[in-house]
Amino acid sequence: MSFKLSILGSNAAVPAHSRNMTAQLLNMREHHFLIDCAEGTQHQFQRFGFKFQKINHIFISHLHGDHIFGLPGLLLSMSLNNRKEKLQIFGPLGIKTYLDTCFSISQSHLSFEIIFHETDPQKSSIIFENNDLTVRSFPLLHRIPTQGFLFKEKTQPRKMLKEKIGEYGIPFHDITKIKDGEDWMSPDGSLIKNNALTSDPVAPKSYAYCSDTAYFDQIIPFVATADLLYHEATFTHDLLGQAIVSGHSTAIQAAEIAKNAGVKKLLIGHFSSRYANPQCLLNEAKTIFPNTELAIDGQVYSVD
Ligand SMILES: [Zn+2]
Repeated sequence: MSFKLSILGSNAAVPAHSRNMTAQLLNMREHHFLIDCAEGTQHQFQRFGFKFQKINHIFISHLHGDHIFGLPGLLLSMSLNNRKEKLQIFGPLGIKTYLDTCFSISQSHLSFEIIFHETDPQKSSIIFENNDLTVRSFPLLHRIPTQGFLFKEKTQPRKMLKEKIGEYGIPFHDITKIKDGEDWMSPDGSLIKNNALTSDPVAPKSYAYCSDTAYFDQIIPFVATADLLYHEATFTHDLLGQAIVSGHSTAIQAAEIAKNAGVKKLLIGHFSSRYANPQCLLNEAKTIFPNTELAIDGQVYSVD
């Protein structure tokens, strides 16, 4: 099952060193989610050959410009492509006013409907759910209300062993119950245990997104055991004072969250423009959490 994260921007605040500001595309079992949308995001889609037509849900962490100034342009391009499908936007209170104002004063009319789900970033809740997955928001610690997101697959039914269907002559209408874990009674009255008919499903995977935030250990329970954690790492640790003042994290702090949360892999991003090469941030993080990678614009990371 597909579960892939594409980085559209890894820089903080302004574009620099061929890095754009924050936006990510998450393909989760063929559900296409956009997470944050910096200015220039639609150019990044073109640059890397990613498609935005399939996006039906957009998740916004907070209302700072480097996370939302790409939205009006992207939405207008969707409209110019004659999009008809409804689009759902999840974001802090104010996201609707922001977009309504942009479109009203520019007299822009979209070809599709937007359904807004305005959130209170101070509270954690399940903000989206379907048959395959849930998305939970949780508070981050930044200069304005900001939320992180946990994208989590649901546990799938057990896998039917195909050869057993023929072997026992199991009728089609019993297979759903067997996949749900029930034993099976054959017509001659013998009970076949479920574990003789099925194998374990693939373990559900999860992706946690934390940007922007200062070091905030209250996020640990929300991101615990994630398969992939994206955590911002704006500064090296010698600039801890600046990180605290600006509501951002150092690479060491991102790695400490990853370590304490027991995640499988850490991806760091939201790099300050002072770092032409973010390798120094990676080196720092790896001293605490070795399985760390840099977010690189255009790169695709598999969540497994
Ligand atoms: Zn911010």
